[in-house]
Amino acid sequence: MTESAYRFRVGDLECIAIRDADETFHVRELLPDCDDPQVREALALRGWPTEEISYDFLGLFVRAGDHAIVVDPGWGPCADGLESRFVPTLRQAGVDPDDVAFVILTHLDLDHAGGVMAPDGGLAFPNARHVMAEEAWDGYRSERILSMCSPTDAERYRTLARLLEGRVLLTRDATEVVAGVQTVPAPGHRMGHTAVEFVSKGETLLHLADTVLHPIVVEHPTWRTGYDSSQERIRETRRRLFDRAAQSRALVFLSHAPFPGLGHIASEGTGWRWFPLAHSEALTGFRACPGSPHASLGDC
Ligand SMILES: [Zn+2]
Repeated sequence: MTESAYRFRVGDLECIAIRDADETFHVRELLPDCDDPQVREALALRGWPTEEISYDFLGLFVRAGDHAIVVDPGWGPCADGLESRFVPTLRQAGVDPDDVAFVILTHLDLDHAGGVMAPDGGLAFPNARHVMAEEAWDGYRSERILSMCSPTDAERYRTLARLLEGRVLLTRDATEVVAGVQTVPAPGHRMGHTAVEFVSKGETLLHLADTVLHPIVVEHPTWRTGYDSSQERIRETRRRLFDRAAQSRALVFLSHAPFPGLGHIASEGTGWRWFPLAHSEALTGFRACPGSPHASLGDC
């Protein structure tokens, strides 16, 4: 197993967090107010960089009974200078892309959905149904929306739409994909942005996708963020989903937290706080071996 794959279990679910790619840029891209002394102080308090940040792009594989499920297969052939490792890493982990039954797309930004396409121009998961919000599917097939993309990206979206025609399963509101797996609307980041909740044997894995572009916003959910299309709606989504995560004591997966992107969101005072994996193991008594009463984490 390479350092880009992290196996863990939630109830009976066998999961692999996969680092598709990583990139370094200024934290200002994510937090436009990062020069504000209060923001700098809050970042420093939790040990986050205040200038350059190494940023991960993460995808998820879940085996739920007979169903092999991918959530967001990364950049694929749209990586533009980055190396997209999702599919090769999945293969190394023993999963054949032909066996994947569902590809759930939290939204259609190319760092999440580009990997639907294979480098040879076909589909990376040829036998899968591709699950996404109807709003996302309709939006990215609209020439009005595509006119706001670069010509290269607009062409990629046209290709994506052509490849996926007849292979999509569209969601509205909360939708059950298979038993124990449901999409949860998470508006505010991009059209049709969706979280995904997995439940098995009373344990919950909540994939929050880009609801949290930097874990510091769990503590500061009203901070202005880059890349979110509606600050007001993403703030409302954060409050709703942070409450849901805290109440269910869910294991939380973030698409852009440091690999493997896992942790917990706990209520603290009138708000919440992000506890990355190592801390949350201590917090909840999770153990890195099978047989735990909770999710068993680590290379089991
Ligand atoms: Zn993203």
